[in-house]
Amino acid sequence: MILSDDELTRYARHIVLKEFGGSGQARLKAATVVIVGAGGIGSPAIQYLGAAGVGRLILVDDDSVEPSNLQRQTIFTTADTGVAKVDAAAGAVRRINPHVAVETHCLRIDRANVASLLAGADVVLDGCDNFATRFCVADAAYALGIPLVSAAVGQFEGQLATYRGWEADKPCYRCFVGEDPERAETSCAEDGVLGPVTGVVGSLAALEVLRAIAPFGDDPAGKLLLIDLLALRFRSIRLPKDPGCSACGKREPTL
Ligand SMILES: [Zn+2]
Repeated sequence: MILSDDELTRYARHIVLKEFGGSGQARLKAATVVIVGAGGIGSPAIQYLGAAGVGRLILVDDDSVEPSNLQRQTIFTTADTGVAKVDAAAGAVRRINPHVAVETHCLRIDRANVASLLAGADVVLDGCDNFATRFCVADAAYALGIPLVSAAVGQFEGQLATYRGWEADKPCYRCFVGEDPERAETSCAEDGVLGPVTGVVGSLAALEVLRAIAPFGDDPAGKLLLIDLLALRFRSIRLPKDPGCSACGKREPTL
């Protein structure tokens, strides 16, 4: 993947990083990332991944921009109200960086469409707002062998992890969450969330997507980052592989 003069100038602050460099930038250009959810986490993630020069972004979300989104979903403007989130976000990416190809899917991911949406992706970022979609995306990413960056927020807190559960010593999403999709979900609509909390977690999710494409620093798989922004505290805990996991343990995965 050759970088043009314009790209060499645009990405100069990446290329000068010895941990990343021109080879990392070329890997970004060659990469396809699926982003599930163009909401509070998706907004900064899409902006940073677009600006960073990921070659192809595939945006999936079935919502339209609502006035109550604008307090935290900073990729949207007041004029986007009523527009499909994926369309408004794609327009923003094209304004940020014309070198990025953006593909949009205004739909809800389900078990019938997930494999075709994820096919060929190098990384999947899940920043959606419900467990049914999270399980569906996580199971498909596991089955297809695609690294999954999973991010979640609530009120003043967040969680972030990267899953490669097909590897012998690395957990999958179900090792962590188990099998119960009916567990209580936190809802930004009901519980509220401070705007910059989504910015922090979404930006960290973008960082982890870049790390998954062009590895730098420590491998995050097998760890869970807990972000407590009431206390302004970040904590990383070990996430072991569950030998009895229904997905990556002894049983065969089901899609
Ligand atoms: Zn597992």
